[in-house]
Amino acid sequence: MTTDEEIRKGLAICDGCGSAGPAHFFPDGRVHLIGTGPTCSCGSSDLRPIE
Ligand SMILES: [Zn+2]
Repeated sequence: MTTDEEIRKGLAICDGCGSAGPAHFFPDGRVHLIGTGPTCSCGSSDLRPIE
């Protein structure tokens, strides 16, 4: 059984390279870019949500 109730979807921006993309935001604060995971394709993990 899967649930998305605690995982928000939205846009995140990478502070390393400035690119933005769709991401999952986990309740414990982790951000996973859809497609690349917990780090940006540039290697940075400084991801933050965009309102
Ligand atoms: Zn980046």
